[in-house]
Amino acid sequence: MKSLDYIAPNSAEAAVALLSENGESACPLAGGTDLVVDLKHAPGDIELLVDVSRIDEFRGIEETEDGLRIGSMVTYGEIMSNPICLEKTPAIVDASHTIGAVQTRNLGTIGGNLVTCVPSADSAPALMVLDAEVTVAGLDGKRRMPIEDFFVGPRKTSLEPYELLVDIWIPKKNLGKPSDFYKFGLRKGQALALVNAAAAIDIKKGKIIDPRIALGAVAPTPIRALKAEALLANEKPTPELIVEASEIAVTECKPIDDFRASLKYRQQLVRTLTRRVLTRSVEIASNR
Ligand SMILES: Cc1cc2nc3c(=O)[nH]c(=O)nc-3n(C[C@H](O)[C@H](O)[C@H](O)COP(=O)(O)OP(=O)(O)OC[C@H]3O[C@@H](n4cnc5c(N)ncnc54)[C@H](O)[C@@H]3O)c2cc1C
Repeated sequence: MKSLDYIAPNSAEAAVALLSENGESACPLAGGTDLVVDLKHAPGDIELLVDVSRIDEFRGIEETEDGLRIGSMVTYGEIMSNPICLEKTPAIVDASHTIGAVQTRNLGTIGGNLVTCVPSADSAPALMVLDAEVTVAGLDGKRRMPIEDFFVGPRKTSLEPYELLVDIWIPKKNLGKPSDFYKFGLRKGQALALVNAAAAIDIKKGKIIDPRIALGAVAPTPIRALKAEALLANEKPTPELIVEASEIAVTECKPIDDFRASLKYRQQLVRTLTRRVLTRSVEIASNR
């Protein structure tokens, strides 16, 4: 691997300025679990790594009046041991547990996972079902967007040149919302998802309120199963309805057919995982 320059600014403004001054020869570095692999195989024109892990506003997990703020530099290990996440966003904790091995979870950040933007990113479905939003900072200041708008295509986000992901917000109304995440890979550990799925629902007066289903590795970006959600809304949560919703979710996916799994196998995984995360979310909601 060729030698690179390294700098660790302590503010978003300084990091954005460094990126814009150095153009295509600079790129942000977080935990490096994706980036260092990429640089080893295809270093391209990169000459300067701008380490964003020391920027205070990119760090930390805190509950505010608006909801839960998770800094983009928060690692999976931090999420897995954070009392607020354990109590109020268990699906994000479950997703974090499935990522890589201990070393990856201690270095890899939730922000880096979203920016790398692969369809199988495990943090994405768990955040999507909680209606997460992301804050980004660039030359024109900050902007906030729904997390779905952040994903544009495989390895392509809506970040403009020199923009950085600052943090992720879960709205207050969704903290503690019954939710579940499930990932299926070819091995129990160190496996990318063949399919991953998350669901979140509330139940009021025996009816499903605000159902959310998100699926990964089944389309160019992680997706919401909007038609399946519409079927569930304001209905009684019966096993038959959940089976029907899982069947509709299959029609909303466009999984690939490759050497790791056939199209039919992935469709069956969507069916099974959707049923599983919905059933578990209903169980949690019913027992509250
Ligand atoms: C052995 C191994 C196993 C893995 N297993 C899984 C798995 O099971 N599931 C899974 O989803 N992923 C997995 N990954 C992928 C990886 O760990 C995650 O995507 C990780 O979260 C990336 O975060 P990072 O901090 O390491 O990012 P980095 O590698 O530092 O950066 C990734 C990309 O994001 C950019 N970037 C980082 N932070 C910012 C920011 N704040 N603003 C703008 N751009 C930014 C970087 O420039 C780079 O392009 C695995 C990786 C390895 C090496």
